[in-house]
This record gives sequence, C-alpha cells and structure tokens, in this order.
Amino acid sequence: MTRPYVLLSVAVSLDGYIDDAGPDRLRLSDSADFDRVDRVRAESDAILVGAETLRRDNPRLLVNNAERRAARVAAGKPEYPLKVTVTARGDLDRELNFWHHGGAKVVYTTDSGAARLADRLVGIADVVTLGAEIEFGALLDDLGRRGVGRLMVEGGTGMHTAFLAADLADELHLAVAPIVVGDSAAPRFLADARFAGGSTRRRTLADVERVGDMAVLRYLLRPDDPDHRFLRRAIELARQCPPSDTAFSVGAVIVADGVEIATGYSRETDEKVHAEESALNKLPADDPRLAAATLYSTLEPCSQRATATRLPCTDRILRAGIPRVVIAWREPTTFVVNCVGVENLRQHGIEVIELPELADEAMSMNRHLDLA
Ligand SMILES: [Zn+2]
Repeated sequence: MTRPYVLLSVAVSLDGYIDDAGPDRLRLSDSADFDRVDRVRAESDAILVGAETLRRDNPRLLVNNAERRAARVAAGKPEYPLKVTVTARGDLDRELNFWHHGGAKVVYTTDSGAARLADRLVGIADVVTLGAEIEFGALLDDLGRRGVGRLMVEGGTGMHTAFLAADLADELHLAVAPIVVGDSAAPRFLADARFAGGSTRRRTLADVERVGDMAVLRYLLRPDDPDHRFLRRAIELARQCPPSDTAFSVGAVIVADGVEIATGYSRETDEKVHAEESALNKLPADDPRLAAATLYSTLEPCSQRATATRLPCTDRILRAGIPRVVIAWREPTTFVVNCVGVENLRQHGIEVIELPELADEAMSMNRHLDLA
C-alpha cells in the first residue's frame, strides 16, 4: 500500500496568522502567489481542506488556469484533482461551493458523521467512514487505494496540525505575506500539539522563492525518508564514474517495494553509457517490478543524446514503464541547449520529484565542468 506524498500549503502573515478575526476572509496571497498555488494544485492528484475551512471560507478549490487543466487531461488525468474534506461530526451543508464545482469529491468522516451525511450528499460526494474517530493514516491509505500519489493539504489549522503532529506530512510550502494581523483571536497556521520530534527537531529548508510580494519557503519535513536515502545512494554511485571532461558524472538506482533492484553510473560499462541506461540494462525489459518502481538519478534524465544511435534516457524510462522518477538537479546547459527530460516525463504521466536540497552534493563530482 502506497500512501500519497503529503504537501502542506499555507499562506501566513508576518505574525503567523492565516486570517484575521473578521467575518470576511483576509487575502494574504497576491495574484502571483494565487497563480503559484493554482500550479501546485494542478500538479496534485487530490486537494484536501478541513470542514472548518469549508464553513468559514466556502472555497471552490479549482484549478483555475485552463491550460493547466488541459495539460492534466492530456496526461490522462481527470481535469480537476480529487477534492477531499474531513469532518468528524458530519456538519457540512449541501449548499457549500465545494460540492458544486470541479471534479470528484470524497468526504472522510466517522460512523456518526456518515449517518448524518450519507443522505445529504447522495449523488455529489463519496462518504467514507474511518470508524469511531478520524484516523489520518487510514485516510491516506484510502487515498492511496484511489490512486492518489500526491495530496495537497490547504488547511485549515486543524488539518495542518493533525498531519504534522502525526508526522504524515512530507513537505511544507509556507508563503509569508507582508501583512501584520496583530489579533490573537485570529486563526494561526498551527494549533498547540505534540509534534513528532518536539521543538528541537530541525526540518530541512529546501528552497526559498520570491513570488510577487510573498516569500515562499519550501521545507522537507521528513528528510530521513526513503527518497533521500536512495538519492544519496545514487550520489555515492556517481562518485564511481570514470572521470570525463565531456560528460557529467551521474548515479542512478532503481527501487521497487523499498528494495534496490538495479544501479548504474555514467561510463560504467562503456564510455558512452548513461547512469539510468546502465541500471535499466541490468534488468529484463519485461521485469514486472518496473511497473511500480522508482528511478533515482542524481541528474535530470536526458531528452536528447550526442550519440544519435542511442535512445535518450527519458524514452528508456517511458519504455520500461517506470511510473516515478526522483532527481536532485536539472541538467544545466553545459552540453545541451535545453534538456526537457522532466517535462517529457511529466507529460507522459510520470511523477517526477525534485530534491534540490541534495543538488550541491549531487553536483560535487562535476565541479570541473562548466555548470552554466
Ligand atoms: Zn541519459
């Protein structure tokens, strides 16, 4: 059972509030940041908000950009991500916008909540009970069974607190607005809770980006997770590459069911072979494990090759039927004008995860090259 990758997304004021105490919703994001959130939604398989947020803000939770919706359809996905909400009591009105826009909806609730909701939401949402109380691990298991690989949690306080306290969140996008709220009656990003690791646990700052007048901070909440472990293994393999002044040194690992099934590195078996190619060459083309495998590569898989007779790694990954790729850095323009490996893979429905916090380490054996 694969649980989805869980991304918490929130906009906060400088003093850590997600709204003011007034009846109308405080707009913390500017238009550029709303567009960023729209893009992250489009990249997600499901979007979750808590019942309190539905009652308070009555959001529609759509992907607003038509091109992004078209790209989803072209990739064989539903036009809109699955919309998910959570309510223990089942206190949700049928008139809320949430039910009447976008694609499929599912509501997770308790046995008693389900008794209240089943009739009210008949025909407009799937009502799923998690038993006597809400258990977020079971919720993620169910989403995994529904094919959700990437879940975006947009709040509110109760949802973000629950996922973080249960150590079920993989990533946090914290967008800081240049606004001061200054009212302790306003809702905050997180409520008091016993968070895993306590107040001394340092999370990993992966990225800082300026979007409009906002600062968007991206944190990895569980950097000891398997993706980091296997990508570090690929970095170790990259150190074994025979040196070259005309090509990158790259390492690759193919993992199925949490176990390494093949490895490769640049120039491992001949002077032209790529890391991903070398790893794939070690497996039969019809290896059934490939259909659920993840390929880890220190560098973005190539979309074109200097040796025209050899297939680009992007095509090899697609042919192998590998559904998921994790990389540390995008190919710079040192040897090719524009590598579109990540774009090609995503267009074909492959999930591509980038872990830029490992990029420095992954590039360390390539410093003699011009990393333009
Ligand atoms: Zn390649």
